Order: sequence, then C-alpha cells, then structure tokens
Amino acid sequence: MAHFLANTTVQYVCACGLLNPITKLFFCRHCLALRCDFCLCHEVDSHFCYNCVENIPSSEAKLKKYKCNSCFDCPTCQHTLSARATTVTVPRKPEEEAKEEGGKASTVITRKMYYLACLACRWTSRDVGIPDQTVATGSWPESEYGNATRFALLMEHFQAVVLRDKQERQDYLRRKAPKQHKYPSLTDRTGLTVSMIRRQMGWSDKTPPKAKPIDVNPSEATEDVDELPDSLFTEPVNLRDLTTIKQRLSQPAAQPVTVRNLFPQHKSLSIKRSLRCRQCEHNVIKPEYNPSSIKYRIQLFAAHHVPDIRIICLPEKLQGGVKTLLQMKFCNPTVHDMTVTLKELPASEEVAFVEEMKKVTVSSSPLSRQLSLTEEPRVVNQSTTAQIEIPDESFILPHRDDSAEFDEDTLLPQEDPKFVVWRRANRACIELNIEPHDNLAPGTEIIVGFTLQYSYVNTVQVPEKKDPQTHNLTARVFINCGKLSA
Ligand SMILES: [Zn+2]
Ligand SMILES: [Zn+2]
Ligand SMILES: [Zn+2]
Ligand SMILES: [Zn+2]
Repeated sequence: MAHFLANTTVQYVCACGLLNPITKLFFCRHCLALRCDFCLCHEVDSHFCYNCVENIPSSEAKLKKYKCNSCFDCPTCQHTLSARATTVTVPRKPEEEAKEEGGKASTVITRKMYYLACLACRWTSRDVGIPDQTVATGSWPESEYGNATRFALLMEHFQAVVLRDKQERQDYLRRKAPKQHKYPSLTDRTGLTVSMIRRQMGWSDKTPPKAKPIDVNPSEATEDVDELPDSLFTEPVNLRDLTTIKQRLSQPAAQPVTVRNLFPQHKSLSIKRSLRCRQCEHNVIKPEYNPSSIKYRIQLFAAHHVPDIRIICLPEKLQGGVKTLLQMKFCNPTVHDMTVTLKELPASEEVAFVEEMKKVTVSSSPLSRQLSLTEEPRVVNQSTTAQIEIPDESFILPHRDDSAEFDEDTLLPQEDPKFVVWRRANRACIELNIEPHDNLAPGTEIIVGFTLQYSYVNTVQVPEKKDPQTHNLTARVFINCGKLSA
C-alpha cells in the first residue's frame, strides 16, 4: 500500500482498453464490465462548502461564482481562516451615558470584536488593515477590483451574442425543416398563418425581438506605459514583502505584488459527483446528498467485485531466458465463492475482439443521449516482456467472511492444485513460473500478462429469473515484475 493511488504494479484492462490499477476502476453490474473514468459520465450532484458543510443549490452557486459566502481562505497559505474573538474597550457614547444616570456609570465599555486569523501561518486580517467586525460572519468587506465593471460588461455582451446565435440557429432549422406533425394543426387546416391570427387577436404582428448585443469598446493596445519607478533600481529587494506566484494566482482578479495587498479569499465550493455508465446509463457511483456524509447510495468500485491481485514476493534476480517464481495473492471481495481460471492473453484475436466491442457499443443503446460520447474500445497499449506459465487448472476462492478473520486456523484439507502455496479465509497465494524474453537489454521492465476468468454472482434482480445469475467474467491483467538485472 506504499503507493495506494499511483500503484501501477498490477494493472487491469478496462472495457475500453486502457490500463488502470484496480483502485481507479469501477464495475457496472448491468453491463458486467470494468469501467474507467473515460467510460463513465461525470455528473455534478450538488455543490457544498466543506468547511461550513452547507449545501448550496446550483443556481445560487453559479451566482456566487462557486464560492462560499461565509468561509475564507488564507491569502498567504490557502489554509482556512478562522474568526477569532477579542474584547476591546471603547469609550461609552454620550447618549448611553445619559441613560444610566443613577448608577456608577464607567466611561468605557468592553465589546466583543472579531478578526480573521490563519492558524497555520499566523496571518491575520489586521495585518492588511481590515477593521475588526462586531459579528463573526457575513460582514467582512469585499475587496473592489479595478476591472470588475469592464468584465461585467464583456460578460453581458457575450451572453447576448450567444443568445442571438442560438435564436438564429433555431430560426434557420425551423425554416429548413418544417415540422412534420402527424395531425394537421389548426393553422394548416384553415390556411391561416400565425401572423394573421395574431393580427385578428389584436396582438402586434411581430416576432419576439431579437437579442441585440450591447456595444462594448474593444480594448486597444497602447505603447504608452509608465516608466518604472526609480526605487526599483536603487532600493534592495525585500522578498518578504513580495507575493509568490501561488499567492498571486489565488487572487486572479487583483494579482497583488506586495503582501500588503493580500486579502482573504472566499472559499471555493466542492462538488458531490455521481458517475454513470455511458453504455447502459445506470449509476455506478451515487453519493448521499447530505454534504456531511461520506457514504454512498450506490458504490460499485471494481475492488468490491473483481478479485484483487497483489504481489507477495518478487523474484530477486530477473534474467533473460531464466525461469523464476512469482508469488501472487488473489483475494475474493464478494460474498459468493469464486472460481478463478488463468488464461493466455488474446493475442491475434484482440483486434477482432476490439471490432466486436465497437459493434456492441453502437448497437447496444440506440436511444442513449450520449451515444457519441462513449469511449471507443482500443487495442491494449502494453506489450509483455516475459512469458508466464499458465496453469491448466482452476482454483476456488472462498467468499468473504469478516468473522472468519478472528477464527483460529482450522483449515479443512482442501484439494488444491499444486501452484496454490497457501490459503487463508478468502485469500489464496499462488506461485507461477515466469521467464523473461532473452533478447532484452538490462534494465528493461519485465511485464507479464494473463486473462483472469472469474465466476461472478450478479445480485441485480432480473425480472424473468428469480435466482441470482452466475456469470463467467474475464479481466486482462498486466503485472510489472521489476527490471531485468544486468
Ligand atoms: Zn453499464
Ligand atoms: Zn475505460
Ligand atoms: Zn463555507
Ligand atoms: Zn495562512
């Protein structure tokens, strides 16, 4: 688990032909196939702020430029800012004094004031002269930016341009292909045109006004630029006063040069994302709506359905043409027993296989709304540099049983093929001979590949058949065994 997310030692081939570690793959229970990021449709379910754990509707999030209203990031280190409270003494106002005549009115009162502070780098809002506020949230001054109005104007202009283009396209399509209604409409039968009806009804005979983009002055390049200040050449540079590139880019509107102009930034919103199989349009991942929950309503990670292969022991020395033993552990993550068979990779048939897959892709869902977006199957871009001895027997992986972990080792004698070294609960270690090709340069990565066939019990209810269906599924696996020794 040293490289949990960047693990490229054992890679599985997705249905589209791309290689991925099992931790990055998903499993569609309806297509019974592995799916990678490219084979899935990514949809934004909801926007939320992970600091205040508030759900924000997508329209509101868009208005707020996908920023949280009440949480801020530190402009120096991008850590979350916290509001700190202090008590300050302020002189009592004269009218307040007048109210409390009889008592021993003191001339000062204490008041709670808030400022923003970063607990990671000790930056505070007082450093840049932001006055303390009387309430902790919602009252922090917004910084003004020089080009804000210009950008607002440009946005308005281009929104109108897009709208106009859309209208024109619709008009063009309407003129080009008159609607073929099954039944003649009222206007067709009476020979009246829409404009005539409008006139009869006393409405103005005009189509809705076309969106007209407002005029904006185009920006002009100028050669008149101010001279650099003399101090730049005469005074030594104090790097503590200058901002880093990261700090500048975290405030894209202002891009301050000195640290005195760093202001707290609204926190960016996070999204909850659901993934959908592009072939069958079923959800593969669906998170719970509640932003504080990290659970899923649907979670079809490949690691929960496909046998997990890990390397136990790599051969110490890899030499071309010399056989060595490779130990691998197979783990059954499902609650049903699994029969595992290892087979040779499809070599010459692979191109034909890919062609077959392409046909399936096109024919499977003619009504799909994202047909053009489906990932096209391709030939696997990985060649093997060693031969692996494929055993001709299959072996059984018992189902996962969490309580079995605590049982004492009471293994029933099982008739196992010779290559199974040991087994414990739902895991089995097997040992296979590998032989690197003998024409390789020292340092070449030794890759072995095989087809993993496993029995899978699908628990998705099929209307016609009551019992869960057992399928024999295959996955192609490539294992990096290290480099060829010199
Ligand atoms: Zn699917
Ligand atoms: Zn894929
Ligand atoms: Zn927030
Ligand atoms: Zn900080």
